[in-house]
Amino acid sequence: MAAKIDPLDIVGIDDQLTAEERDIRAAVRKLCDDVVMPDVAEWFERGELPDVRGLAKEFGAMGLLGMHLEGYGCPGMSAVDYGLACLELEAADSGIRSLVSVQGSLAMFAIHRWGSEEQKQQWLPAMAAGEAIGCFGLTEPDHGSDPDSMRTRAKRDGDDWVLDGRKMWITNGSVADVAVVWAQTEEGVRGFVVPTDTPGFSAPQIHHKMSLRASVTSELVLDGVRLPADAVLPEVTGLRGPLSCLNEARYGIVWGAMGAARSCFSAALDYSKEREQFGKPIAGFQLTQQKLADMSLELTKGTLLALHLGRRKDAGTLAPPQVSVGKLNNVREAIDICRTARTILGANGISLEYPVIRHMNNLESVLTYEGTVEMHTLVVGQTLTGHAAFR
Ligand code: FAD
Repeated sequence: MAAKIDPLDIVGIDDQLTAEERDIRAAVRKLCDDVVMPDVAEWFERGELPDVRGLAKEFGAMGLLGMHLEGYGCPGMSAVDYGLACLELEAADSGIRSLVSVQGSLAMFAIHRWGSEEQKQQWLPAMAAGEAIGCFGLTEPDHGSDPDSMRTRAKRDGDDWVLDGRKMWITNGSVADVAVVWAQTEEGVRGFVVPTDTPGFSAPQIHHKMSLRASVTSELVLDGVRLPADAVLPEVTGLRGPLSCLNEARYGIVWGAMGAARSCFSAALDYSKEREQFGKPIAGFQLTQQKLADMSLELTKGTLLALHLGRRKDAGTLAPPQVSVGKLNNVREAIDICRTARTILGANGISLEYPVIRHMNNLESVLTYEGTVEMHTLVVGQTLTGHAAFR
């Protein structure tokens, strides 16, 4: 007899996961059900994440911060484990996944990959436990997709470094204990580990966002921030430093976007079976079934792509353009799934009583950050043709 088909996993992708991977996924889903889902719509509505430190400690206790890094209190899990965690976190809310991604894949990864032994000892164990929060400052008010043109500068003054400039749209900025800040120097772009209580550093929060509202987003103002010689990340010079970190975070988004999509698909499927018009459930109309079938196909393909890229990452064979393929496809398809779900819910689709409009609006940020949809299209174009069309 044919096995029963799970509508949320129509081709049985679960069979490709180990029992341990399924356990990790279940544990993260349960944590999200316990500490995020009861309140996340209200946080989104109020435009705040009230207890970031409490959440960070919960995530740290479960080993979700720097999950795929080795040593220094990090759990050293596989890329697929980390991806499954991102999927569950983003099925709760993209802002919550962003908190974890920025901490682990951007701030911690930068220190882990490019930092000195002292920097690693000082920051990583506390960050893995969620006792210290990190942010990652690359984007500036006038320089986003083209970070090489950044204006933030670090100048030598005796042995010290002095940083001046501004960063914009920085996740976790106002709540961070440590900022990894990228700045121009005479040698090229360098990364700096900046304790946020250093005089001259401030991080005013950005308000009036209509997306990623359950996430802290800030400016970083660096006004004569004086740092000791050993504040620089010693192991990297040039844009390959920040780009290596972005590649890690993008990998998490490949999975996470499918979490937001699954949440919206599931909500739309349930709703279509309950909502009756013209004397029958709207699930019985062909046009609704067309939408649900298309959503299911894209959810399936995107999740398979994420798993494939995850297995490559664990095998050490994942190349950055392959991550671009995943980010471009999965975020684009996820936002389409969420918008289609919105139509199935009719007027209820715009209400925060359901997760759909929240995910849909969140994905507008995910489409733009960690490389816009256009930038990843150009990376794929360059990979296919050998021609760089960025400038
Ligand atoms: P721009 O670069 O000005 O682009 C505007 C438009 O022009 C886009 O459509 C873009 O694709 C297009 N474009 C630009 N150049 C080209 C080209 N050559 N060819 C074709 N089209 C082009 N940054 C951080 O450093 N740290 C963070 O923690 C962080 N968190 C964020 C959180 C949120 C909620 C948001 C919204 C952003 C965050 N960002 C963060 C910033 C994000 O990475 C940037 O917004 C992104 O890189 C795009 O830069 P931009 O907004 O300046 O857009």
